[in-house]
Amino acid sequence: MIIITASLVISLGASLTTTAQAKTYKTPSWGHWDSRTVTYSMSGSSKSYKKSWKTAIKRWNKTKIVHLKAAKAGHKADIALQSSAKLDTDGEKLYTGFTNYSFYRHTSALSEIVSAKSTLNRDLLTDYHYTKKQRANVATHELGHALGLSHSKDKKSVMYAKNRYKTIDHQDKKALTKAYANV
Ligand SMILES: [Zn+2]
Repeated sequence: MIIITASLVISLGASLTTTAQAKTYKTPSWGHWDSRTVTYSMSGSSKSYKKSWKTAIKRWNKTKIVHLKAAKAGHKADIALQSSAKLDTDGEKLYTGFTNYSFYRHTSALSEIVSAKSTLNRDLLTDYHYTKKQRANVATHELGHALGLSHSKDKKSVMYAKNRYKTIDHQDKKALTKAYANV
């Protein structure tokens, strides 16, 4: 009896390990724009932060699922991209980036986004010594929110809540494809 029990424990342990290794987390999405072509504007005087946003724009455009383009002069952009010396802190939480949006709630699980504003927190990114590459990763994450993606539990996803080191991965592309399937 004792031997059988022990062997069951081992085989159970082994199968649990296999499951954990095979586990992949899907990037969730919360919404989409009514068109795959989404306009943006960039404000703020910091050249280096504009560069971070430009890298993020290029990365999402490279997926060919959405097309981000600069809003024409005098037209309101769908997504406003900016940087700020400081962001309001929410209790103990400090954000390196933040995205606000407004949307229509659909009867389906996805909402239609009508406006978004993404901000990079310059002070915090400087204080924590984020490199140019890492700032671009934060910008890509925020732009991901503005396009309709939510947080992923996967550290390999650009949408991981505390992402600093990763750019768009295949799960992020899959999520975007799904969010825009009927657009
Ligand atoms: Zn986020």
